[in-house]
Amino acid sequence: MKTILVCGGAGFLGSNLCSYLVNKGERVICADNFSTGNMNNLKDLDSSLFSIIEHDITEPLRIDESIDEIYNLASIASPPLYLERPIYTFKTNVLGALNLLELANEKDARILQTSTSEVYGEPLEHPQRETYRGNVNPIGVRACYDEGKRAAETLFFDFNRTYSTKIKVVRIFNAYGPNMEPYDGRVVSNFIIQSLKGEDITVYGDGKQTRSFCYVDDMIEGLYRMMNSREELLGPVNLGNPNEFTILDLAQKIIEKTNSESELVFCPLPTDDPTQRKPDISLAKSELDWEPKIELDEGLDKTIEYYSNLLNI
Ligand code: NAD
Ligand code: UDP
Repeated sequence: MKTILVCGGAGFLGSNLCSYLVNKGERVICADNFSTGNMNNLKDLDSSLFSIIEHDITEPLRIDESIDEIYNLASIASPPLYLERPIYTFKTNVLGALNLLELANEKDARILQTSTSEVYGEPLEHPQRETYRGNVNPIGVRACYDEGKRAAETLFFDFNRTYSTKIKVVRIFNAYGPNMEPYDGRVVSNFIIQSLKGEDITVYGDGKQTRSFCYVDDMIEGLYRMMNSREELLGPVNLGNPNEFTILDLAQKIIEKTNSESELVFCPLPTDDPTQRKPDISLAKSELDWEPKIELDEGLDKTIEYYSNLLNI
């Protein structure tokens, strides 16, 4: 049995990862400061294999026992929420990475960083391969997240070059599914909740911008495979579902699936909102034998059921 630290384990992806690892029989320690995470996401994890530490990763983390693996998922991930707390978001990504890399060195643990498709910024290459260096506006409002994640990648690779730290870096493209906070402002949760409540659906811009949505179970499997990949594979490796949809496509699907009478309303496009996003996942396929299995229709059905139960609608 391994002992695995999941930082950001009370959030959407982190809580799903904690459950997955505990179900595999591993000992899991979740560290989280509950800034966007929720204890309710962990309520079914009453296993003796599972424990929780309340901790902010901008501060060094001391753990007395040995640790085999660290997954770093601690960061606000929803644009409206990180736009409200830019300096804290940047500190979490940079100081958090530094503190956890130091812990990984001390424990001789493998450490996996959840980077993001946002490191490609407003991409000029399509689909995005890992070799693409991106087009981020370094002084823009989203830079606290994008540049924070880019700086964290730099730290990961510098630790590997300097101390041979056992690093793994993945770049996640828009994941969705159960345990995503209902009101954290991301598009899938917003549209489902608006449709279920019969409220207007808030399309930002003309809705022709695209995203590629990956269901959470596929994403967690990808994170696990990357952590357990051959030691020389450091990444970055893109993880996401390469099927690309416009935001209008997404709204239409959700309206149909929920039999909703909601109507679309068009709101201003947030500053620096990327126009197009689609991962090239050739590397994940060849190195991890991984590709998503759950397509958008099936994933939306499961997610709609989750929110209907959660909100009793
Ligand atoms: P989330 O907001 O649901 O979860 C993040 C968790 O990190 C929360 O539990 C929060 O309380 C915790 N956290 C934030 N700052 C912290 C700090 N300073 N110290 C300790 N804990 C802190 O987000 P998510 O969607 O689950 O994303 C998880 C990770 O994956 C993030 O690092 C995010 O950047 C990355 N990612 C997610 C997506 C996606 O589509 N969900 C896409 C790209 C990258
Ligand atoms: N979006 C939207 N309506 C909403 C929330 C988001 O049209 O209520 C758009 C947003 O402008 C972006 C896309 O949906 O183009 C995905 O937004 P999200 O915040 O989920 O993730 P992002 O990929 O931007 O980080």
